[in-house]
Amino acid sequence: MPNEVPAYPEIVVKKHHERRLLKGHLWAFSNELIEVRNDLDAGTIVRIVREFDSKPFALAFYHPHSLISARIISRDVRATIDKEFLKARIAEAAARRDFLLRERTAVRLVHSESDLLPGLVIEKYNDIYTFQIVSAAMEKFKPEIIESIKELFNPKSIIEKNSSHLRTLEGLPEIEQVVFGDETSTQISDRAGTKFDVSLVAGQKTGFYLDQMDNRTAICRYITPESSVLDLFTNAGGFALNAAIAGAKEVTAVDSSDSTLTSLKQNISLNPNRAAWTIEKADCFEYVKSVEKTFDLIILDPPSLAKSKKHLKNAAKAYLDLHRDAIKKLHAGGILATATCSHHFSREALHEVIRDAASDCRRTAVILEKHGAAADHPIHSMMPETEYLRFAIVRVY
Ligand code: SAH
Repeated sequence: MPNEVPAYPEIVVKKHHERRLLKGHLWAFSNELIEVRNDLDAGTIVRIVREFDSKPFALAFYHPHSLISARIISRDVRATIDKEFLKARIAEAAARRDFLLRERTAVRLVHSESDLLPGLVIEKYNDIYTFQIVSAAMEKFKPEIIESIKELFNPKSIIEKNSSHLRTLEGLPEIEQVVFGDETSTQISDRAGTKFDVSLVAGQKTGFYLDQMDNRTAICRYITPESSVLDLFTNAGGFALNAAIAGAKEVTAVDSSDSTLTSLKQNISLNPNRAAWTIEKADCFEYVKSVEKTFDLIILDPPSLAKSKKHLKNAAKAYLDLHRDAIKKLHAGGILATATCSHHFSREALHEVIRDAASDCRRTAVILEKHGAAADHPIHSMMPETEYLRFAIVRVY
C-alpha cells in the first residue's frame, strides 16, 4: 500500500509534558513518560503520543534505560525512518555548511540534535569523512549512514570515531576504526590559511577541534610584532600557530600529551613564521604557576572539567585557580583568551571566574569579545543542551 503508515510502537508522555516537545525541544525524559516500556529494545523507533487525547505527534528514538527516553527524529508521524530519510537529512545539513566550505577545508557537516539527527556527528576533512554515533537507534543505522556518506560525498575514506564516553550512557561499546578506504591523514587549513596535518585515527591525536576554528583566528588581531604568547592546552597548536603567523615574536606552547606536541612540531614546519618557539610537555595547571616569564597574551583552553552537574563545584575552583595563575603571568594591558567546553559551565559561570580571578589579583578585567563554537556547531534554540563552548577574549590591566 503506497500510503501505509509504519506501525511503530507507542509511548505516552504525561499531560503537560508534551508542551515543551511541541514547542520544539527534542528530548522526552524517563520521568515524563506514563510508563517506561521495558518491552522495547534500546534503539526502537516509537511514536510519541500525548496523554490527554492519545494523539501521536512525533517519531522518536527510544531507550528504556537512558535518562533521555526518547529523542525526536520527526514531527511527521507518517514518516518512515529509513536510509532515504537519514540520507536526505544528512544532505540538507551538509548543504547548510556550503558557506563554510568556501572558507575552510575541514567542517563539521552534521551536529547531532541541532541538525535534527539525534546522536550523529559527521565531519569532513578534505576527502576524508569521520562519523560518531552516541544514540542506540542511530547505531542500528550505522551501515545506512556509511552508505549515505559514500553516495553523497564520494569520500576517499570513512573513519568511525565511536570513542565518546557518551556511548556508555546508551550501552554502546567504544570503537574506532577505518570503515572505508585507507587514507587516514590529510592537510587542512583554517580561515587564516594556517595549515594543519591531521591524523584521524587513534594512536596519534584523534581528529581536530573544529569548534575552535574561528576563535583561533579571532585572537590574531591582538598580536603585535612584539607579542609574547603562552598557549596552554595547545594540542596541535591551533591557537599558537595562528598567533605565530599573525607575527608574534615569541610563542610558548604547552600540553601534557607527547603525540599532540609531535603534531605541533609538524604543523610549525608547514607554516613558516618568525616566532621564537618554546614547546613544553607539562601539566598546564602546574606550568602556569611556575613559569618565570610574563606574557602579552595567554590562551586557556582546558579539556572539559565539568562532565556533569556534580563536577561543577570542583570545576569552578579549578577554573578559578587556573585563571588567577594565568592573570599573574599577564602584562598590564595583556590579553587573556579563555574557553570552557562543558555544557554545564555557563557563560555566566565563566564571567564570574574571570571577574573573581582578576579581583583576587587586584587587576581589572574587561571582556572584549564573547564567542562560542564555530557556525558548523549550531545551537538548537529550543535546546540549551546543545550549547557547550564558551570563549571570551579579555583585556586585563
Ligand atoms: N587548544 C587546542 C585544543 C585543546 S584540547 C586547539 O585549539 O586545538 C585540550 C588539550 O589539553 C589536549 O590536547 C590535552 O592533551 C591537553 N591536556 C589535558 N589535560 C592537561 C593538563 N592537565 N595539562 C596539560 N595539557 C592537558
